[in-house]
Amino acid sequence: MMKHEQPALPYAMNALSPFLSEEQLFYHYSKHHAAYFANLNRLIEGKKEGALTMRELIQTTHGPIFNNAAQAWNHNFFWLLLAPKPGQQVKGHLKKSIEQHFGSFEAFKTAFSDSANTIFGSGWAWLAKSHDGKLEILALPNGENPIKYGKEAVLGLDVWEHSYYIDYRNRRADYTQKFFEHINWDFAEDHFIKPQL
Ligand code: FE
Repeated sequence: MMKHEQPALPYAMNALSPFLSEEQLFYHYSKHHAAYFANLNRLIEGKKEGALTMRELIQTTHGPIFNNAAQAWNHNFFWLLLAPKPGQQVKGHLKKSIEQHFGSFEAFKTAFSDSANTIFGSGWAWLAKSHDGKLEILALPNGENPIKYGKEAVLGLDVWEHSYYIDYRNRRADYTQKFFEHINWDFAEDHFIKPQL
């Protein structure tokens, strides 16, 4: 039986302010994200799914177990992708690959932001990498992520209302814009080269 544990937040609860306030991050990490782990562990207890890793659960299950496993993983990834110190720039192999696929970083940023801002209802905007190295933007509903489709996440932006509504109310586009100032590009590039989780 594999019990899945929510990793500690990699920075203080107020470290992302004013991009995300302490209250916003507290509800998101300590209530929403924690609940996905509690639900997942309850759902797989005593079942064959209890022997699977989080990736295996995402690749092979459907319904409530998938939803909670995927959301547990998605937020694990999201916290690592965010940087307390604003203003990091994309660089290295990832910069080159984004420019090759989208023409320029600015063109990519516009396309990704449009995608994030127009997801209807709950979901995530992803920059995903296929096994052949192709990059693409995926707008996926609810907890779906690139792993479900045999790809890897490079960037992911949670656009569930729970992720921004305390700080941004209905202004999702402002949240998306601020997200780009708080990307941990070191983590994104490491994960782009070799998946870290
Ligand atoms: Fe969330």
